[in-house]
Amino acid sequence: MVDWSGGGDRGPRPVKDAIWIGQARDGISAEPEYARNRVVAEARLAEIMEESLAAGERLFIGFDFPFGYPAGFARAVAGSDDPLALWADLATRLPASVDGQERVEVAAELNALLPGEGPFWFDPFRKGTIPLTKPASMPVPEWREAERRAKGAFSCWQIGGAGSVGSQALTGIATLERLRQRFAGQVAIWPFQTLDACVAFVEIWPSLIAAEVTQGQRADEIKDAAQVRILAEAVSRLAPDELEAMLDVDAPEEGWILGLGHEATLAAAARQGRLRNDCFVMPPGAYWTPVDDALALLRERLTAVAGVEKLPVRQAAGRRLAADAVALRAHPPAANSAVDGYGLGAGLAPGLHHIPLVEGRAAAGAPFEGTLPAGHAVRVLTGAVLPEGVTTVVLEEDCRISESRISVEGPLKEGANRRLAGEDVKEGETILTRGRRLTPADLALSAAVGLGELSVRRPLKVAVISTGDELREAGTALEPGQIADANRPMLCAIITAMGHEAVDLGICRDDREMLRATFDQASANADAIITSGGASAGEEDHVSALLDETGSMALWRIAVKPGRPLALGVWNGAPVFGLPGNPVAAMVCTSIFARPALEVLAGGDWHEPQAVTVPAGFEKRKKEGRREYLRARLVDGRAEVFPSEGSGRISSLSWAEGLVELPDQAINVTHGTPVRYLPFAGLLE
Ligand code: AMP
Ligand code: MG
Repeated sequence: MVDWSGGGDRGPRPVKDAIWIGQARDGISAEPEYARNRVVAEARLAEIMEESLAAGERLFIGFDFPFGYPAGFARAVAGSDDPLALWADLATRLPASVDGQERVEVAAELNALLPGEGPFWFDPFRKGTIPLTKPASMPVPEWREAERRAKGAFSCWQIGGAGSVGSQALTGIATLERLRQRFAGQVAIWPFQTLDACVAFVEIWPSLIAAEVTQGQRADEIKDAAQVRILAEAVSRLAPDELEAMLDVDAPEEGWILGLGHEATLAAAARQGRLRNDCFVMPPGAYWTPVDDALALLRERLTAVAGVEKLPVRQAAGRRLAADAVALRAHPPAANSAVDGYGLGAGLAPGLHHIPLVEGRAAAGAPFEGTLPAGHAVRVLTGAVLPEGVTTVVLEEDCRISESRISVEGPLKEGANRRLAGEDVKEGETILTRGRRLTPADLALSAAVGLGELSVRRPLKVAVISTGDELREAGTALEPGQIADANRPMLCAIITAMGHEAVDLGICRDDREMLRATFDQASANADAIITSGGASAGEEDHVSALLDETGSMALWRIAVKPGRPLALGVWNGAPVFGLPGNPVAAMVCTSIFARPALEVLAGGDWHEPQAVTVPAGFEKRKKEGRREYLRARLVDGRAEVFPSEGSGRISSLSWAEGLVELPDQAINVTHGTPVRYLPFAGLLE
């Protein structure tokens, strides 16, 4: 989706009102691209078209200017009702240029072809070649049928002024005509031609999804960039029949706006991928929700919100893949030797063999030229491409070597010590799937199969807020009744260890307006928000009170110990996890609920926590009804638990190396009873 601009060069630094190009596939977009002027944009579009055509793909490109003019204009200028005759005419009048002024001269030329003053008006340069204000009577209609339907659209006759589209149309049509001629036969123009070519040009108007753009625009994103990104995502998500219906219009001379008359469908497609305000609402009737039900709900309702970028392989460790990674070439690319030794044309029968050596050798990166004659051997080194005629390699340690021959004891299997081309990975094979968090080994694999860059998610930004009048920054002097904020350093560190980006927003007092401002700051600067404290339903529990105002609030009473209610909600589109203030409960809730939820928001896979079943090194009688997590560690293969279950014991969190998970049902644990042990390594990274 392209946001065009009729103006001159905008300079190297990305700014608004320039040309922006947004690309998406299957609802996932790349970072919008900035084009400083029309010449740059035209070259970039040609490049994108060439790449798509070479890859055998189809490309659907939208431009935000009218493709046709009100009925009668094409005939007056180009002598035909065919809008494409007008396109050809405009392309000869407006050659490629970065300047912004000649479009006004062209408008004046066109005005001269029609009786009266107009139709073009508003010269932004005030040279007097076209009327400054709208002429009282127009030689052609002021509006196309499409603009009569699209509330707030500008007239194609207005050349200058904020929001005007006249210059965009003149320069845009001329540019598209040049691309159409350059890619003759491979481009079809909607709705004037049947869309049976590889590339389709269509007319768009981002204002059709204005509300979704306002909602979805990122904190530091230029609006034009957000528009093309969100519209590209939306169009790429349309079901075939939805798109079919949008394309089915009858406007052979004036053209039409894609999606006009189908605004609700387009808007719904634009909203997908964002969280719904009610995403945390519990089914009615739930009071004490079992842990598994709560997790299932998170898994079902949350989607990836982190953006996508391409990174060189060597910078991608720890990132989540935004798309499947596919091998560009086989591994190994050619059959090669697994050892240092001698290449043979066949296996060997039992008994002693004397085999003459040929001159030369095959080494890694320095192949042997020529074919090995039958009955001969050739020196090969590990990793060397096997010479023509070599099927088997005998280890050098197994040979007696003289000047001109080797002696070796059979038998030796045909194909021994040989690595076949593609035996590890075939070309075109999916090596890693979307959502995977890339390990160092994944980088080796990607590089080996020819990938130079990977499409990955940007780090999820998670704002961390502590709430409570009693809290003070660590290390500061405390008045009576005050305590140090223990949760924030812990939560920021957990978020960082999980591969997200922590945005530390400090301590917020138990003051609703102050917390509201902090939430606003958080939603503007982060993708998700984690708070601790103030999450219950008491009079100083402002997190729940604020979330309640948005209508998105859900107080999750989960049948878990340790745990207090979790306040979940959505603030300006950002999911909020309101954790209990108690540090032990905060850490357990983070590891059990926030960890998988953040992983999904970050574009990762849903993972069950790593668990091992080990004999208990403790005794405990547990009643039916809620799940319990005990602070534990392994000693000699047995799970030991912290002597006190008190939830005020921060020291127990440091003592522990994991959690023992006791089931929802009643259980009588004695020494040796098998229990599930969840190491922190799998819970908190
Ligand atoms: P709340 O959830 O706000 O009712 O807090 C429950 C308990 O946790 C209270 O004793 C708070 O003082 C304590 N608490 C809340 N936030 C923190 C924090 N960031 N660090 C340490 N203790 C906290
Ligand atoms: Mg509190």
